[in-house]
Amino acid sequence: MVQYGNITVRSDEALKILLTNDDGIHAPGLWAAARALCQAGEVYVVAPDREQSGVGASLTLHTPIKVQEVSVAQHLGADYDTPHEVKAYSVEGTPGDSCILALEQVVGSVDLVVSGINRGSNLGWDIIVSGTVGAAIQGYVRGYRTIAISVGSVQNPQFEGAARLLELLGRQLADSQHGANFFLNINVPSIALQQVVGVQVTRLGGRSYGESVREDGIGEQKRYWISRNRPVQADNGEGTDMWALTNNRISVTPLQLSLSNEAQMADIKDMLTDLPRQLLNYQD
Ligand code: MN
Repeated sequence: MVQYGNITVRSDEALKILLTNDDGIHAPGLWAAARALCQAGEVYVVAPDREQSGVGASLTLHTPIKVQEVSVAQHLGADYDTPHEVKAYSVEGTPGDSCILALEQVVGSVDLVVSGINRGSNLGWDIIVSGTVGAAIQGYVRGYRTIAISVGSVQNPQFEGAARLLELLGRQLADSQHGANFFLNINVPSIALQQVVGVQVTRLGGRSYGESVREDGIGEQKRYWISRNRPVQADNGEGTDMWALTNNRISVTPLQLSLSNEAQMADIKDMLTDLPRQLLNYQD
């Protein structure tokens, strides 16, 4: 193992890849990614045992979590014969739990963390609630090169383009193992690969989906359903991830985790000028 900055590179062995998701261990997108990535290196699939879309970066801190090895052959099909080893585990927890358990215990250190391929896009401000990105965050904060990847359609998603992209990125990393660290949010249009116009490096757009709330039942039986089904057209111009995807381009957004609004610090300081005096005089 060699340390480059905060990236640990296992230069003497095959590329080691952790693959996780938020659609669950049986999701077709996860196995499309496994099939593609095992062309580039060893793949360790560690994913929630059920659908967990929309849980963001949440973690299970109050109950113990069960991890079970699952059959790879069953998911990869009868012609299962891969150039590199593939192992798979299901986790009775969130996407974030899966990534943490993999990196801290079940798998150990890796050369690349991939979360996806998610069924449906993860764009703009919405990545805050994305389980796909929520899992990826746990790779990124541990200093691993990390990719969250989604395709632009929930109905009949086409995983081919995204899978091919992962294979190429994996091979590139395997060939030159040292290089920049990164945290990428990739969205691939759900169309045939031949129809993809290009690959564009983008910034996050604004809010992409709004929520609607539906009331169900009366009295004690009253319940509410929250759905994320209202498209919002906020900051979706050229240069954004949303624009790229709508225009049949693969969108690659480099992410960082700092949410602080430095441009506003002076204004807020002004707003709070009088506060220390009021706090100190509170007991009078
Ligand atoms: Mn999902």
